[in-house]
Amino acid sequence: MAATQQKFTRMLGRAMLLKCPWCSSRRTFVRGWFKRLDRCRTCGITWHREEGFELGTVTVNTIVTFGALTTAMGIGFFATAPDIPVLPFVLSLFVVALVVPVLIYPFTYTMWLAFDLAVHPPERAELDDAAAAVASGDAAAGIPLPRSGRRRKRST
Ligand SMILES: [Zn+2]
Repeated sequence: MAATQQKFTRMLGRAMLLKCPWCSSRRTFVRGWFKRLDRCRTCGITWHREEGFELGTVTVNTIVTFGALTTAMGIGFFATAPDIPVLPFVLSLFVVALVVPVLIYPFTYTMWLAFDLAVHPPERAELDDAAAAVASGDAAAGIPLPRSGRRRKRST
């Protein structure tokens, strides 16, 4: 049984603003555009809650990029039809396909974490572990978790 549960729409809204989906803090696990700490620096919740988490972020990135491509194709088509300039049209779509995945990269982590937290709310032990990491300063320092048993408490 989950310790607490939050509304998915609320968590997704936070994630889309690059905030922690769980605690709404801007001091989250995102560090720079391409780097991440193991935990949110405010609430201590870890983003890597299970093996294969990154597959979800890649899925979010792909879906959003394909949505952007579809939108760009529609706008380009209706704005230029019937004389569609094929080369500029294809080149602009190529730019969209290259730029959008980079622009949304950190958001995919927060968005997928929001989804993961909604589908699989944290247990009391996970929240206690997160609080302990924040209290010990590990979350703010970005001290990585051990590769195996990520939910275990660190022995000090
Ligand atoms: Zn947080």
